[in-house]
Amino acid sequence: MKKNLPRTWEEDGYTVSRTTAWSAPGCHEGCGVLCYVKDGKLVKVEGDPEHPFNEGRLCPRCIAAPDIVNHPDRLKAPMRRDPSKRGDPDAWVEISWDEAFDLWEREFKRIAAQYGAESLQAVVGTGRDIMWESQRLLYSMNSPNVVSYSTGLACWMPRMVAYLLTMGCYCMADCSQLFEDRWDHEGYKVPEVIIVWGNNCVQSSSDGFYGDWIVQCVKRGSKMIVIDPRLTWMAARAEIWLQPRPAVDSAIAIAMLKTIIDEGLYNHRFVDEWCVGLEEVRQHFEQYDVDQLAETAWVDPGKLKAAARMYAAGNNSAIQLGLALDMQRHGVSCVHAIIIMMAICDNIDVPGGNILTPNPGDVNFFGWGWDMLPEEQQKKLVGYNEYPMIRMGMRLDQSDLALVQAETEDPYPFRGAFYMGCNPLTSMSNDGLERVYKVLQKMEFNVVLDYCMTPTAQTLGDLLLPITMFPEREGMRSFYVNLGALWPIEGLQRTGDVKSDQEIIVEMGRRFNKEIFPWENEKDMFSAMLEPSGMSFEELREQIWWYPDDVCYRRYELGRLRADGRVGFPTPTGRIELYSFIAESIGSPALPYYDEPFESPVSTPEMYQDYPVIVMTGTRNIQYFHSEHRQIPKLREIQPDPLVEVNDQWAREKGISAGDWLWIENVRGRVRHRAKPTPALRFGMANLNSGWWFPETDPHKDPMYGCWDVNSNLIIEAGHQGPTGFGADVKALLCRIYPCKEGELKNG
Ligand code: SF4
Repeated sequence: MKKNLPRTWEEDGYTVSRTTAWSAPGCHEGCGVLCYVKDGKLVKVEGDPEHPFNEGRLCPRCIAAPDIVNHPDRLKAPMRRDPSKRGDPDAWVEISWDEAFDLWEREFKRIAAQYGAESLQAVVGTGRDIMWESQRLLYSMNSPNVVSYSTGLACWMPRMVAYLLTMGCYCMADCSQLFEDRWDHEGYKVPEVIIVWGNNCVQSSSDGFYGDWIVQCVKRGSKMIVIDPRLTWMAARAEIWLQPRPAVDSAIAIAMLKTIIDEGLYNHRFVDEWCVGLEEVRQHFEQYDVDQLAETAWVDPGKLKAAARMYAAGNNSAIQLGLALDMQRHGVSCVHAIIIMMAICDNIDVPGGNILTPNPGDVNFFGWGWDMLPEEQQKKLVGYNEYPMIRMGMRLDQSDLALVQAETEDPYPFRGAFYMGCNPLTSMSNDGLERVYKVLQKMEFNVVLDYCMTPTAQTLGDLLLPITMFPEREGMRSFYVNLGALWPIEGLQRTGDVKSDQEIIVEMGRRFNKEIFPWENEKDMFSAMLEPSGMSFEELREQIWWYPDDVCYRRYELGRLRADGRVGFPTPTGRIELYSFIAESIGSPALPYYDEPFESPVSTPEMYQDYPVIVMTGTRNIQYFHSEHRQIPKLREIQPDPLVEVNDQWAREKGISAGDWLWIENVRGRVRHRAKPTPALRFGMANLNSGWWFPETDPHKDPMYGCWDVNSNLIIEAGHQGPTGFGADVKALLCRIYPCKEGELKNG
């Protein structure tokens, strides 16, 4: 695609620059944006009409970027505080960057000498484009313990694990996104049928998938099937909508797959040539009855079979999977069954099917620097022996085990942590919040990098480093589709004495290990990351975005997937392993299975008597990115308070009206949200927002900014991870819901 617009130009007194957006603010999709600057300030952001990824469209988060970049509450200088004064907003003292770097280095070296380097943790999140660099920074400190305190690492990774177990590579619904000329690409066809499964992508646009692409496919003729417990905007427009009870998607996946197998609706040639294990699947599924599974999932069996037949009948059908499948203890099994559906119907790597994702420019960021960590330190990754899959891909600590180890300090304690791209006390403390809060308080030194004060920074921080936002910094990232660059846009002045995460990472990495961080600055580091592409960072930066031009379909037939150059898939057999030999070798289920959530009307019927509402959480809203953006009036106006969606008939029966404050309580605790009665949910079901806190709270009164009242992590329980160590039940919590009494409302 020709880039007609220049990189920067003058227009009506504004300087306009093109760049790509990565949180903060925004999210981690990397959409193309036009930034308008006047008098040194960002005043407007528009979608870049020529960027193939978002084709000029933007979410409210990026539209509101100027409000965030210019927000008066941004942190503007490094600050330190005595660890004994955590939670005291008056104890912060401004310091210089040199003092900050010296302090961080001194404290972490002291902790490593006293307790061992492995007692240092990097607590990382999904937001900013620093996942790989922050991991490498921790490796430079000689520790493997990168951690996200989300139970079952239940965000994207369970899906990734299912792909690694079966075909060795990831795929996405093909909405032409891998081609720079998009819908005009020769050979591309829109899917005849698209299943949108556990993924309200027009709201969330997550994991490298821009939700609007589905809308574009439907406009071009795709028929949609939606599987979601909520009547979403997309479900309302679907040919078939299956409305299961939450967290039982494995039952639906197995029932649909069994329908396809039993009725012979699959592609026998593809199965014979490229798959292995269908007979094992068939035999294993003899224990299941399709009607029974549908009833277990509270879905009409006829509708379920119709959905399976419609998917199989499409010449090219796609399935777009989402976070809701990760947030189930048996999510890996569910995705395993879905992958088998894709495979046996010959929908993998075909136009308008599920296209295998490339590493653009052969740049593979996973575990960057892991090999430079001594083997004896690698083995200290929490869960290394118990859950071998954590050694592949992202290489994060298994979160549930890390939480237990932090409490027991067996075999070693955690004593120092840095927090990058995350606000764990609002977004990832999936166990009553209190457990995570307590273990992080045990750290002797906490370094928090963020752009504003948060519950995590206020209650845990000893050193607080203010960071830049996307238009203010150099950056580089890929999320399957393309490579994108960020640069400090023309004419914009940084807000305060802030630095980018990457500037900080290079400075600290060099202080700890110059072999692992040999670069003078972040641009050289990016160039090193880009080495396999043959492009320097300067070259990428000049182009702003770059698409590989060698993406094509059926790459397994061309020897393009395997390291040995042979045809086939990157699995031990070279075929798609419907029966997973890798899973078998590590003692995990080799075939998809169905099991109940750890609490449910079926697995804990007595509890269901007392807690008769099934509550989901983790649902994304388009105006917020995890815990970000609550300070922005324009965005907060869309939804001022945390909401619990409840069935409208149920609400009427309980005398509950829209806007009433309700307690959502289970055996672990309670949170309060405002009622949003809706017909979009079944009777007896509710959907709770996540990531909430109130930045407007006076921290002298509550340094957790309301988290102890409203954060949904208060009612989630860790320790129920799936058999691979991935997946956790965050979407099916048995609760009771009742109105708050007067006097119980602190912030409402
Ligand atoms: S998906 Fe939305 S918030 Fe994320 S980068 Fe794109 S426009 Fe911005």
